[in-house]
Amino acid sequence: MKSPNHSTEITKLIAELNHAHNFQRQQIADSFQEGLILFSTELTPKLVNDKIQKLLYGNNEADSPFTNLKLYTKKRNSVRFDLKHWIESCIQKPSNSVCEQMVWLKPKQKDDHDNALIPVQLRAYPIINRERTLDGVLLHIKDLTLEVQAEAQLRLMEASYAGQFITNSHGYITQPNYAFSAYTGLKPDTLKTMTYLDWLTKQVTLSVPFGSVMEALINEGSWSGEVKITASTDAQFYAVLSLTMLTDENRNVEHFIGVLQDITDIHEARSEIERLAYYDKLTGLANRTLLHNHIESTIQNAPESLSYSALILLDLDGFKILNDTLGHAIGDQLLILVAQKLTKLAGERNLVARLDGDEYAILIPELSQDPQIAYEGVLELASKVQEELDDRYTIKNRSLHCSASVGVYMFPHHLECGQTDQLIGYANLAMHEAKNLGGNQVFVFEDKLCEVAKQRLEMLQALNHSELDEEFQLYFQAQVDANGRAVAAETLLRWFHPTLGFVPPCDFIPVAEEGRQIIKIGLWVMHKAFLQAKAWNEMYDDIRVSINISPIQFHEQSFVELVIGLVKFTQVNPRNITLELTEGVLIRNTNLALQKIQHLVSLGFHISIDDFGTGYSSLSYLQRLPLHELKIDQSFIRHIPENPEDVAIVDSILKLAETKNLSVVAEGVESEEQAEFLRQRSKNLLIQGYVYSRPVPGAEFESTFLVPHKTSEKPD
Ligand code: C2E
Ligand code: CA
Ligand code: CA
Repeated sequence: MKSPNHSTEITKLIAELNHAHNFQRQQIADSFQEGLILFSTELTPKLVNDKIQKLLYGNNEADSPFTNLKLYTKKRNSVRFDLKHWIESCIQKPSNSVCEQMVWLKPKQKDDHDNALIPVQLRAYPIINRERTLDGVLLHIKDLTLEVQAEAQLRLMEASYAGQFITNSHGYITQPNYAFSAYTGLKPDTLKTMTYLDWLTKQVTLSVPFGSVMEALINEGSWSGEVKITASTDAQFYAVLSLTMLTDENRNVEHFIGVLQDITDIHEARSEIERLAYYDKLTGLANRTLLHNHIESTIQNAPESLSYSALILLDLDGFKILNDTLGHAIGDQLLILVAQKLTKLAGERNLVARLDGDEYAILIPELSQDPQIAYEGVLELASKVQEELDDRYTIKNRSLHCSASVGVYMFPHHLECGQTDQLIGYANLAMHEAKNLGGNQVFVFEDKLCEVAKQRLEMLQALNHSELDEEFQLYFQAQVDANGRAVAAETLLRWFHPTLGFVPPCDFIPVAEEGRQIIKIGLWVMHKAFLQAKAWNEMYDDIRVSINISPIQFHEQSFVELVIGLVKFTQVNPRNITLELTEGVLIRNTNLALQKIQHLVSLGFHISIDDFGTGYSSLSYLQRLPLHELKIDQSFIRHIPENPEDVAIVDSILKLAETKNLSVVAEGVESEEQAEFLRQRSKNLLIQGYVYSRPVPGAEFESTFLVPHKTSEKPD
């Protein structure tokens, strides 16, 4: 039987009880789910149903419910509610109407640990007989726990910061809380005309397909995920939306419940972390990690699209010099300007990244399925990048020129993930090739570059394990004066490797500089050359020995101390030694470099500027440096006398040397004609080149060129 909610049902019940026999009455009353007590007019209980029996304290059935029912006026109050008095005053009312009262009951339950009071509703129904006089009173006691809980929940929901709504079985939003209304900007009245699906369509951007939300609701009864809410064009926020479907035991939908939690703060924090992890701080471009990820996903998608993709890698020409000489603030500005240009050129489809320093990359995913079209596409972009970057940039009222070396690697669709590093390596090789060819150009990767890179690696490993005394040898090349006498010799290093064979210095010196083995090798060269210079000068007329010093070696903190140590150890006279430095040495840490040079000069060494005219063209250092010699680079000698420009350069170097009182060596002189031409221009010039001799081993140099003391014979 259903619980009697309405007075009509109670009236019916009263009628039933009236007509029933005593034993039937008890049955009828017991089948009620709520408490019932039937009182006589004198308020003696005539019938107490099961439900009430369980609430009564004391076992004696005759005990009055007035003492054995523990009722209180308030939840946290020890004031007992006087049930008897309340019923009395109710039946004394002239109207004989139903009285209602909410009180708190202390239930008597064996397993009730906390003994909490439960809310109950009392209803007293005066029973009136046909004669219209009072026949008794029916007391109906209803447990209100669920109702009170529901109301508390509703109040909680109303107070909640999370937006919440409940729908009816048709999906219509029947109970939106205040927060939900505030978040969505929709009034409760408006919301109540909408289903939750209407709302989803109107304001919610899901991060997953709509179908999967429905599937989760049907299969699991709930779905939760991150969404973007667009309450209006200028009010957007991120939230976690949880949807729950409540069904009855036959799986008929009863309600949908939605909870909306604003996570804009978390979302912003996460984007910030992402920005820091994946983007370059200075330029805002993607960083290496993000480029890496994008390449991986390009490779992953490639088998579907069957397209060729490409990676462009570029490096600014001479950026380090620019940065060192003009300062980091200007360098940074240049990097930003370049980033802006690249972003514009690359377009939205392609990813522009800054790797390290002045190195940038552009990833061009899915160029085309046709390799020729893809090739033309990437080449067009790469050329455009090279042309546009070759420009003057105005920074802080300074106008400076910059250009870039651009390497291109196009990759097919059948690569495997994990090949990303290799792929970047290939683009890098192409970029370095563009740089080696003079910079400011595009180079597309070729397989032979791998071969070169492999050789480089082999060389690096060989250098690491090289036995200096066994594999290396010093050769000497004569520098001859106007009288045809070799007054000096340049030390040139030769490497004979057991498996690699003869490796020319122009191949291994850059590798040894990169791997810093040049420091050890350079020290070995100095040691041997000092010994040679000492030995020769003891036996022969004055002979000066020139030694090439790598910038890496020179910039070592202990360089000067090492040189001093070697002088002591070998007993060489520094006046017989010339140290050849390139102009590049002075670019970095100029002041420190000047100090070192001054120190070396004070010890008696001569300083020569090698490859003069090709390097960093600020001549201001010439004023400040205690120099002795300039070596005209071979590139200016090669085409004299026929090339008037080269002649002009040689002339101006000679003039400069004259005013500064410097000696000059012309190197790379191959023909008599060149030698003659140069001699006519300057009497003091020394000539070094194949015209007199190739570089030769020390013993050969000695026998060919050196003159024993106190003789004036010319060498043959
Ligand atoms: P460099 O200092 O400019 O040396 C002159 C180069 O020109 C030498 O090449 C020499 O053999 C070559 N040469 C001399 N006369 C002629 C000529 O008439 N015609 C032509 N075509 N070439 C001529 P090499 O020995 O191959 O050395 C190349 C470079 O390697 C040197 O250029 C120097 O920068 C470097 N190097 C050589 N030995 C050492 C060393 O012991 N230490 C350091 N740090 N670098 C070295
Ligand atoms: Ca040299
Ligand atoms: Ca040189």
